[in-house]
Amino acid sequence: MHVQTHIMSGWCVANCFALTPRERVFCMVAASIADVDGLGIVRGPLSSAYLDYHHVLAHSLPFGLIACAVLTIFSTHRIKALVLFLALFHLHLLLDYFGSGPGWDIFYLWPVSHFRIPNSYSWEFYSIQNISFAFLLFLWTLLIAVRAGRTPLEILMPNLDRQIVELLRKWLTRSGKAPADGAESTKPN
Ligand SMILES: [Zn+2]
Repeated sequence: MHVQTHIMSGWCVANCFALTPRERVFCMVAASIADVDGLGIVRGPLSSAYLDYHHVLAHSLPFGLIACAVLTIFSTHRIKALVLFLALFHLHLLLDYFGSGPGWDIFYLWPVSHFRIPNSYSWEFYSIQNISFAFLLFLWTLLIAVRAGRTPLEILMPNLDRQIVELLRKWLTRSGKAPADGAESTKPN
C-alpha cells in the first residue's frame, strides 16, 4: 500500500490513545518504517535493489522488533508505546498483504528463515480499494485536526500545523457547523 496511507494509519491510530507528541510521530514511523526496504526504487522500479529486497529486508518480524524497541527507548509510556508500535508495524504488513498488488510476498521471518507469506488475495496497487482507504484516513486526519487541534505536522512544522487547524476550524464555522468537542483546546497531549 502507499507509504502516505501507512503514515496516516499511524497518525489516526495514535490519536485514539493518550500519547505525547513525540510518541505520535513514532507511531507514524512504526506504521511506515517497513517500507525503508523499498528505497531501492530510486535505482528504478525494475532494479534488483528494489525487486529483490522490497518486502524482504524490513517487512519482517526481526526488523519490526528492533525498530519498535528503538522507538520505545525514546518514548515516555514505554509499555503502551511498545505494544502500539508493534501493532502498527503489523498493521503495515496486513495492509500490504491486501494492498501491495499481486506478487509481493512477505518474508516474515527473514533473515532467520526464508518462510514467505504469499499475498494470494491482494488487489491491484492502483485500485479503488487503496484509494478509498487512503481517502477515509485523510478524512479521519481532518477530523482529528478539527477536534483535537493537531495535524501530523505538529512537531516538524508547528506553525503550519496551527495554520491548518485554524483554517479548517474557520471553514467549518463559516459553513455553519460548530467546531466539535475540544475545539477550544489547541494542544492536548
Ligand atoms: Zn510495505
